[in-house]
Amino acid sequence: MASVPEDVLVNEALIEDLQKLAKDTALLQGILMRTKETPNSSEVVSYAAFTLFPSPVPRSLFEQARQVQTHFNLLVDRISQDAEFLEQALASTINVDDFTARLFNIYRQVIQEGCSQPIILGLNRSDYMFDLGKDSKTSLKQIEINTIAAGAGGLTSRTPALHRHILKVAGRVEEQKNILDNNPAAGSAKAIAKSWELYGSEQAVVMFLVEDDEINIYDHRCVENELWSRNITIIRRDFNDVSKRASLDQNKRLFIDGKEVAIVYFRSGLMPQDYTEQGWEARLMMERSRAVKCPDISTHLAGTKKVQQEMSRPGVLERFFPDDPKAVAQIRATFAGLYSLDMGEEGDRTVAMAIANPDHFVLKPQREGGGNNIYGEDICQVLESVKENSERCAYILMDKIRPQPVRNYLLRSGSPLKLSTCLSELGMFGAYVRQGKGMVLNECTGHLLRTKSAEHSDGGLTTGVAVLDNPLLV
Ligand code: ADP
Ligand code: MG
Repeated sequence: MASVPEDVLVNEALIEDLQKLAKDTALLQGILMRTKETPNSSEVVSYAAFTLFPSPVPRSLFEQARQVQTHFNLLVDRISQDAEFLEQALASTINVDDFTARLFNIYRQVIQEGCSQPIILGLNRSDYMFDLGKDSKTSLKQIEINTIAAGAGGLTSRTPALHRHILKVAGRVEEQKNILDNNPAAGSAKAIAKSWELYGSEQAVVMFLVEDDEINIYDHRCVENELWSRNITIIRRDFNDVSKRASLDQNKRLFIDGKEVAIVYFRSGLMPQDYTEQGWEARLMMERSRAVKCPDISTHLAGTKKVQQEMSRPGVLERFFPDDPKAVAQIRATFAGLYSLDMGEEGDRTVAMAIANPDHFVLKPQREGGGNNIYGEDICQVLESVKENSERCAYILMDKIRPQPVRNYLLRSGSPLKLSTCLSELGMFGAYVRQGKGMVLNECTGHLLRTKSAEHSDGGLTTGVAVLDNPLLV
């Protein structure tokens, strides 16, 4: 793949100049992150980490990811409505994974009580890597789909201007046109605004459900400001606030601090540590309420790794797209090998296969947010210790994707400048709104390219491993 010319990469004087200019440009563009030291304060902030140069992405694979996104939106939405499928898919997991079990309990309670809100708002991001096959062909392979708190759609909207400027100064003016404009935050806001309109109460607010420490607040602010510009009121509250001060009226309308909440937009709640006991009660209250939840509990569960693995079984996609073999084929083409570790012969085969060749796989628990997966020899260790009992059902196994590494500089506050061998991950943002049975909006709203040093197996922007990038379409 074409990448930055070697003479540019090793031109120390040029790189030194470019990195200074790049950091200032990032700050000017508002590509910002709070610091780990003061995660609650905007008094001292820094640029969010980014690559000095955009990374090459094959145009055809980018287009493929873009085109399949509205199908993924439908798939997630359809799974979320199929109680029988969710129940079956997650049965073995919830026996051993407490976090998924607690989510599932809320799901069961809400189903029993009956749905109180026919408006469904989904904002997700489907992540991919470009697998370099033995035949030297690259193919698009899905890593996962995030149905809760899929972030970075705000910051990434400001990076095209940054990379175009760097290219211009580096004398690569022609290439600027291969960086696309991109504004997923605006797309998310459009879908939130649509849902707010459908909710139908002028006074009602959109509540961002956030963590108390939020280093990534500027990313949220991008979506917030898009909504304010439509004259929609935003409030920010955490689980603790909801547990202490929110309530439902007799029509299950959600109120907090005297305001009716039309939409709860979760930017927290994806990890076990996000919840105290009161936090779990708050989640249940929000799920029972008439507020539109983004995501609702069933859509949250549809985004679990276990569901991803079950989706790859023969016949499952056909169940969700009975009349659309083209959509089935498009979705399936992006699947890497996914394997169940459920008790029984199939799971036994998965264990043996992984232990025989651990470097070919990734072992994944039901967790989000980066830093949880297991690689290499650790796979053998973990599987040896759980393979005889049902604890192994807490994991799924996945083929390891092997992208072509590219050399680039990762600019990160406080880190020395160093030429790194890098791997990229492309995300496509999806947004949809459904009212009862009818889809009101179904769109691909933009993209995100994250790049990390190849020495890291795992990724994640907020974990400090991956950094913001832009696809340079080739
Ligand atoms: P999380 O929910 O923690 O983001 P992911 O499934 O996205 O979990 O995995 C985290 C990171 O691990 C990814 O961003 C990617 O860098 C790496 N990764 C995950 N699955 C694979 C895979 N099958 N092949 C190669 N790398 C992977
Ligand atoms: Mg991920």
